Amino acid sequence: MSVDRVRDRLVLLGSKGGPAVRLGGPWPSSSLLELGRRTIVVDCGLGVTRAFVDAGVGLKALDLIFITHLHSDHVLELGPLIHTAWTAGLASPVSVFGPPGTGHYWRRFCQAMEFDIEIRIADEGRPDIRELVSVVEFGEGKVIEDYGLKVTALRVDHPPVTDCFALRFEQGGKSVVFSADTAFFPPLAGFARGADILVHEAMLEQGIERLVAKTGNGARLREHLLASHSFATDAGRIATDAGVKRLVLNHLIPADDPEIGEADWIAAVRKTWSGDLTIARDGLVVGLSCAEAAVGEETA
Ligand SMILES: [Zn+2]
Ligand SMILES: [Zn+2]
Repeated sequence: MSVDRVRDRLVLLGSKGGPAVRLGGPWPSSSLLELGRRTIVVDCGLGVTRAFVDAGVGLKALDLIFITHLHSDHVLELGPLIHTAWTAGLASPVSVFGPPGTGHYWRRFCQAMEFDIEIRIADEGRPDIRELVSVVEFGEGKVIEDYGLKVTALRVDHPPVTDCFALRFEQGGKSVVFSADTAFFPPLAGFARGADILVHEAMLEQGIERLVAKTGNGARLREHLLASHSFATDAGRIATDAGVKRLVLNHLIPADDPEIGEADWIAAVRKTWSGDLTIARDGLVVGLSCAEAAVGEETA
């Protein structure tokens, strides 16, 4: 086993679904994937910068960033992550891959921060952040094939957002698939076929009603959740059909209901999935190097 292999890991930086944050609760969606020598961030919800640093990775290592869709719980901190890395000394190029509209976000972010960017270039002699970063907008199919890393995208079912993409990362015989936000979507099983890890979003039925009761616009929220997201049992079904080695339930809804714990998630997903299982928590590490040492936490 090479040294590179040992480093391969997935870190769930932010594990909740939706943009709200509450005292003591988990943070919105972002993940760190270290595969081969690449440092890959998938989604940039609020808190990604802090969580990235807490995962023990220096900000100057920022390399590839992928955005599954432009809902704020997946993109709100994209600009601040790159900008903070830049002020921390980032001098190597960063590539951002996202759906149509990602370039618009980045240009407008740089405009909003123009005063600070210009003054740091002039005063501190920093490289121009606008030249360090390239944005590639992708659709379904191959996204990149680069130094042995292959990334492909599958459009999933997340109305009313049409440009929402599951992502499959393959490198050196290892593969990790992210479902992105999606309602139960059977083609995901083919897309995730045989993956080492499937990170799938999940809702828990019994928590939805309490969540809906807590918010001001309950009926509309319930309608959106049911049309656009998957239950834990749906995620289990996809994992079983795909024959993946491990299922990670992520983007949890609800994420901070004191009456819902890990045991409830496990009980739900065990109806449809009997393989290795991880219920996401902020900062949880899932190893990719060898099955026995694979898990930050074995939950089943
Ligand atoms: Zn989301
Ligand atoms: Zn979404």
